[in-house]
Amino acid sequence: MAGVAIITEACITVKDRACVDVCPVQCIYEYNPSTNRLQSEQQAGSGVVENEHAPNDDAIAVFGDSILYVNLDECTSCTACYQPDVCPVGAIYSEEHVPDGTEAIKYNTADPNKGHDHTFFVAQSRAVFAD
Ligand code: SF4
Ligand code: SF4
Repeated sequence: MAGVAIITEACITVKDRACVDVCPVQCIYEYNPSTNRLQSEQQAGSGVVENEHAPNDDAIAVFGDSILYVNLDECTSCTACYQPDVCPVGAIYSEEHVPDGTEAIKYNTADPNKGHDHTFFVAQSRAVFAD
């Protein structure tokens, strides 16, 4: 079933940007610490910035530039990025199918759910964009 795309913990440190190249609306963003902006590119690595947003300071502090972020207000639920042959580590899902986290990465130990609840990355995807 189609839904907005959610990027989860498996992207951390991998961040190969394969999803960026298949997104038709450039709504997958990378945090640029030097400019303190969330930026999307037409083609990954091209350096040509298509869209920009300001980050929410608290939300961006959780993962910073170690993971990519889908802007859920811009995602058209086209399904392209979460086809099984796109993400090499299975990090990106339709909103309806985000799994609970794994024990491998303690990404949010302060969370009462110990960071292993599937709602965490849905909320994080919404919180990270300040505008
Ligand atoms: S579902 Fe489509 S529009 Fe949404 S992030 Fe993935 S490729 Fe982009
Ligand atoms: S394809 Fe997967 S690992 Fe690569 S940037 Fe996208 S979500 Fe992250």
